[in-house]
Amino acid sequence: MPGFDMHIHSTASDGYYNAEEIIDLALATNNVNGIAITDHDTVAALPQASAYAKKLNYPLIPGIELSAEYEGCDVHILGYWIDIAKMAANDDLKHICQAREERFRQMANRLAALNMPVAVETLIAESAQTQHSLGRPHLAQAMVKAGYAENVREAFRKWLSRDMPAYVPRFKLSPFEALHMIAQAFGIAVLAHPGTGAPDNLIKLLAQQGLGGIEVYHSEHNKAAEKKYLRMAQHYHLAAIGGSDFHMVGQRSIGCRLTMPEQLTLLKQARITQKTNRQKA
Ligand SMILES: [Zn+2]
Ligand SMILES: [Zn+2]
Repeated sequence: MPGFDMHIHSTASDGYYNAEEIIDLALATNNVNGIAITDHDTVAALPQASAYAKKLNYPLIPGIELSAEYEGCDVHILGYWIDIAKMAANDDLKHICQAREERFRQMANRLAALNMPVAVETLIAESAQTQHSLGRPHLAQAMVKAGYAENVREAFRKWLSRDMPAYVPRFKLSPFEALHMIAQAFGIAVLAHPGTGAPDNLIKLLAQQGLGGIEVYHSEHNKAAEKKYLRMAQHYHLAAIGGSDFHMVGQRSIGCRLTMPEQLTLLKQARITQKTNRQKA
């Protein structure tokens, strides 16, 4: 049965294709009726994506995937139907971008101290131009180019991964702050791939704070995890969301996980309920 692919990354974060290319790919995929573009901590792809989708009359949901941390675990929160301008103007989101650049510089400094200097300012300028958000993959690529590492994997393994000499921890939101940011931008929040680390008790706490759904169907979830999170979604009256987490061809393909129409309706209703509750408050 066709549905929506609710989890796709573009070049604005760590994906390989820009928004227009993604929409073209989705159009060429049989079982996909519509998509959400959900880049990590940025809405930079969404103006172009919305304009192109409108031109083709293609159903596109403006989204985001915020990185958060809870009790030492990485937790990702998806936001849907967000107001792009409102989210872009959010101070916490701006702070995340600044903190990312700061962290990038700190890691480059560590590499320089290890006799592996990279042209950090050039990399930052390039990323500003392409609206590509800065991250460790860019440092790893620069290291490969300079001959410090055989490949990206080695750069991560020896220097850039957690506890390695050039690693600097990242500034992280709490999942509750992420939820709040999404609500402020008139969006509805969904807990992304809980099977990759979010503790189960967090689902209850987020549900009490206005969470609209759980990403039940994700390539990192096996059948047992799907079953477990579907049960939890039903228990807390949350929509059961599915998405590919597509980054590039050759890994997961667009449409390999989907959200069914009735679940999409449920999520839309959760957004409306949240909005009326806010107006009453
Ligand atoms: Zn994620
Ligand atoms: Zn993702």
